Amino acid sequence: MNVIHHGAKHGVTGSCHQLNLPGGSLLVDCGRFQGHETGALDIDFDVTKINALIVTHAHIDHVGRIPWLLAAGYRGPIYLTHASQHLLPLMLDDALDIEGLAAKAREKILATLTMQMQPCDYKRWVPIECGKGVTVRFQPAGHILGSAYVEINDNDNTRIVFSGDLGPNQTPLLPDPQSPNRADFLFLESTYGNRKHQSIVDRKARLANILHDAIKNQGTVIIPAFSVGRTQELLYDIEQLIHSHELSSSLPIIVDSPMAMKVTDSYRLFKRLWGNEAKHRVKSGRHPLAFEQCITIDSHEQHLAIVNQLASTEQSAIVVAASGMCTGGRVVNYLKALLPLASTEVLFCGYQAKGTLGSELVEAPNNVQIDDQSVPVKASIYTMSGYSAHADQADLVSFVRSIKSSIQQVHLIHGETKAKRGLKSQLQALANVQQVIE
Ligand SMILES: [Zn+2]
Repeated sequence: MNVIHHGAKHGVTGSCHQLNLPGGSLLVDCGRFQGHETGALDIDFDVTKINALIVTHAHIDHVGRIPWLLAAGYRGPIYLTHASQHLLPLMLDDALDIEGLAAKAREKILATLTMQMQPCDYKRWVPIECGKGVTVRFQPAGHILGSAYVEINDNDNTRIVFSGDLGPNQTPLLPDPQSPNRADFLFLESTYGNRKHQSIVDRKARLANILHDAIKNQGTVIIPAFSVGRTQELLYDIEQLIHSHELSSSLPIIVDSPMAMKVTDSYRLFKRLWGNEAKHRVKSGRHPLAFEQCITIDSHEQHLAIVNQLASTEQSAIVVAASGMCTGGRVVNYLKALLPLASTEVLFCGYQAKGTLGSELVEAPNNVQIDDQSVPVKASIYTMSGYSAHADQADLVSFVRSIKSSIQQVHLIHGETKAKRGLKSQLQALANVQQVIE
């Protein structure tokens, strides 16, 4: 067995790992490079050697190069979970649309994709086309809807595990990832390998405090949020605050992101994959992701109208809009119109990469440049954690510690050098780990 990394070995985006087994080769993920990590979209390896593609989850940094893989001639099976099968065409269509690809061309790519996708149940071994006797099993990773870590059994019974992206423990919407029983070789993400998250358990209370202040000021709270995962986690917490009367039931909650709404619909369609607390809420007759005062904005005209309304009336409202780092999407228009108002609050609850408008705003500047226009910043800016979709160091260490077998090698991937170093020193101290490779 050997692995060639075509991305996310030393960085955190562009995940693509080629596992060469005696009977054939398979790819785990085929993602795009993002932010300051640049890399070609064109596939620079021989796709005729690839027998199968396994997709761990539908984030663009794990699937974004699939259209280029198809363009390079890959026609083999794409194994993924049922929920990922649902999300993948949505995500790719959106990404290709942003790229400027016409609707017809996008349809053609998605039609090819649809023929190749082979959805798999969680927790069930399935034979895959990669030499005789090779099987794969998807296990819930708790990262986003449909996310999985994958266990691969070679025909000599070697067990290779790719973590994909692992979610943090104790998020209410998705169940915590459970460690595999066995792993001879573990390829482990290390995004937050040297960090500890603020508690998820009390994030709702912290969110309530910030929202209360804004509502007292009679202003709009703008929450830039990623369409997948974070928007749904936020809606889930906001519904609870309304239910417990901590937020007024007349306060408009505006979700202005067509993509986020499509993804939210997918979350609702796959309620069976939710965690126990979320399922319990549904059983008691509540609608955690589609409650009454949640207003969804669809058309661009509606969007512009609501931006103008909020800017001219300064009425209290909570707006959740993409993109999460304010690099584009509808949140930009809200910021342009509402940053000059002292009654506005902007609440960041996700990582802001260097060079983005989000990262500038976090520093609470006096003004920012948006679309070549200087916009004064009178709004209050808040940052809160607890909404990360990634496991932190403690979660990662506990994931490895709970593997019952002795692990020959843990290969750290999907992390910056510092994060890997921090995690390596912790993992080396575990009794079930023989070797850790950065
Ligand atoms: Zn991810």
